[in-house]
Amino acid sequence: MSAEEGRQRRLLGRLEADELEGLLVSDLTNIRYLTGYVGSNAVALISGPVSVLITDSRYAVSAREQARGVDVVIGRRDLLGDLAAATDRIADGARIGVEADNLTLSRYERVATALSRFTIESTTGVVEDLRILKDDAELDALRKSAAITDEALDVVAQGGFVGRVEQEVAWQIERALREGGAEGPSFEAIVASGPRGARPHAVPGDARIPDDTLLVVDMGAIWGGYCSDMTRTFVLGEPPPELVEAYRLCHRAQRVALDKARPGIEASALDAIARDEIEQGGMGDAFGHGLGHGVGLDIHERPGVRSEGKETIQAGMAITIEPGIYLEGIGGVRIEDLILVTDDAPEVISNFPIADPPA
Ligand code: ZN
Ligand code: ZN
Repeated sequence: MSAEEGRQRRLLGRLEADELEGLLVSDLTNIRYLTGYVGSNAVALISGPVSVLITDSRYAVSAREQARGVDVVIGRRDLLGDLAAATDRIADGARIGVEADNLTLSRYERVATALSRFTIESTTGVVEDLRILKDDAELDALRKSAAITDEALDVVAQGGFVGRVEQEVAWQIERALREGGAEGPSFEAIVASGPRGARPHAVPGDARIPDDTLLVVDMGAIWGGYCSDMTRTFVLGEPPPELVEAYRLCHRAQRVALDKARPGIEASALDAIARDEIEQGGMGDAFGHGLGHGVGLDIHERPGVRSEGKETIQAGMAITIEPGIYLEGIGGVRIEDLILVTDDAPEVISNFPIADPPA
């Protein structure tokens, strides 16, 4: 059985528990997850009696090559018109779920017309619930994606950073990711030196990277559709004492939280472990964002590892551990690893070395 068929089977189990006969999947990332289809126009109906993927003629060849466990129907550009015919094996009155987060009101009205024989139920997060726990094929793709990121930073870091332009380093990162086999970057790389490093989502600038400061580099690849995400902060020369202290604190918080990222801990409690460490060091106000997030087909997905996080950490999750300390006008530090949660110690798949704090 293919990975995609396994996911469809898990979905059917979930639908049965929710007393749904089928789910009309319109989110393209969820469609990829469930069927393997990669393209810009498709809907999928996954149900016990029939599972179909409807796409248009532009994707006829690729959809038939990619899709697993579903019949491929080539419809007109507006796929919803072909939905009624594709569902003729499902009994009248069956309860069919739709993805509320993904349908516009007008699209929903057309779905309701196409599926007027059925009872339409609004659902949220059904496929996303499955995506939280990665299967073996996904874990392998995440490992590969993270390895490409490690190697790319290794290439880019050679020769040091002082005197180079942030934007040029960012471009070199993208090139190194693609040359290393990535389909592309998972987001625009962040290269932020000196005071710019105090902005968690800084855009690389056109100034040369100075000495005696910190440099934050946050980057990731996409491989096989799966994202990676890693941040390293480089200690350049002799930064001012408060930046050295911020680095030391962030480094410790990251190590401590990483060690506690094990099944059974609440995501909010994991966040608190790093946050407490930084608060005790007197820099709690400078850590504004959450500790981490899930990573998969999307760069940011569930679980949210932050103080309001609702999920419990479980084996099979892929999450980041990324505390940061941002000192306005001075600089910033963030250290981020992508990890796979296991029954035991986490498997850290970001392997570019993390520098020890300056003595
Ligand atoms: Zn990142
Ligand atoms: Zn991240």
